[in-house]
Amino acid sequence: MTIRIAVPNKGRLEASATTLLRTSGIRFEKGERALSVPAKNADIEILFVRADDVPQLVASNVADVGITGIDLVTESGADVTIAGELGFGSCTLTAAVPTRSDITSVAEFAGKRIATAHPNATAAYFADQGVDVTVVPLRGAVEVAPKLGIADVIVDLVSSGSTMLTNGLRPVATILESQAVAIIRPDASNNPEIQRLITMMLSVVAAKTMRYVLMNAPGESVDDIAALIPGLDAPSVVPLSGDTDDVAIHSVVRADRLWDALPQLKEAGASGILVLPIQQFIA
Ligand code: AMP
Repeated sequence: MTIRIAVPNKGRLEASATTLLRTSGIRFEKGERALSVPAKNADIEILFVRADDVPQLVASNVADVGITGIDLVTESGADVTIAGELGFGSCTLTAAVPTRSDITSVAEFAGKRIATAHPNATAAYFADQGVDVTVVPLRGAVEVAPKLGIADVIVDLVSSGSTMLTNGLRPVATILESQAVAIIRPDASNNPEIQRLITMMLSVVAAKTMRYVLMNAPGESVDDIAALIPGLDAPSVVPLSGDTDDVAIHSVVRADRLWDALPQLKEAGASGILVLPIQQFIA
């Protein structure tokens, strides 16, 4: 069975999604215009589509797997399951007001016109909060809507926050936190081919947060070093050739632990420390 994966063909998620597929081991050539491209080394077809079409294409069986943002999954209301978070495209769907406004809470949005490209998610959020608002759906240029008099306030995606600031807007509340995710149909989780594709993609995501570390150390330092970098179960300890008690120690460590761990390893007796990236990691 050919597995079809729908990925964004342009926009913010496109480059990272394409890189993720390639690092997962899927080989393909992406033409300028081709909508559908077969993988060269696997029974996989890649569909390049708009990010906001991905949830519906998966739900309606056109694609088996999709890569898109959580915000777009929520907005679509499509019946899909998030199989894993992909660690890119992070942003928040944020309710914001013009800087000069004195609104500081969600309750004060009552009676306001809210411009947004996420009308469903926005309406659901305010209904859930019990706050009565008018949603003004827009496809783009949401952040200028208050200036144009189309709306009083907005709900829009924010990553750094600088675009909002530039447009004279102040964030008041986070409606949802988003990042790119892999989605499947709820009944697809037992399909081994779909599962294999998900596992390969998530192994790349997991590997990004880890580093492979190698070092030499005197035999008597092994316990101290193992305590610092226990790795998955325990580090590998390999004897060195020649007339020495020194050993080579191999382990994996979380990338964000390295800043603390490297000087501690040196202090514990390690030398010749190498830190290597990991391409894929499967527990
Ligand atoms: P596109 O409209 O194709 O560029 O894709 C937009 C998607 O990228 C959104 O639906 C989000 O999931 C994600 N994204 C991440 N950061 C941002 C941001 N600052 N603004 C808009 N979209 C973002």
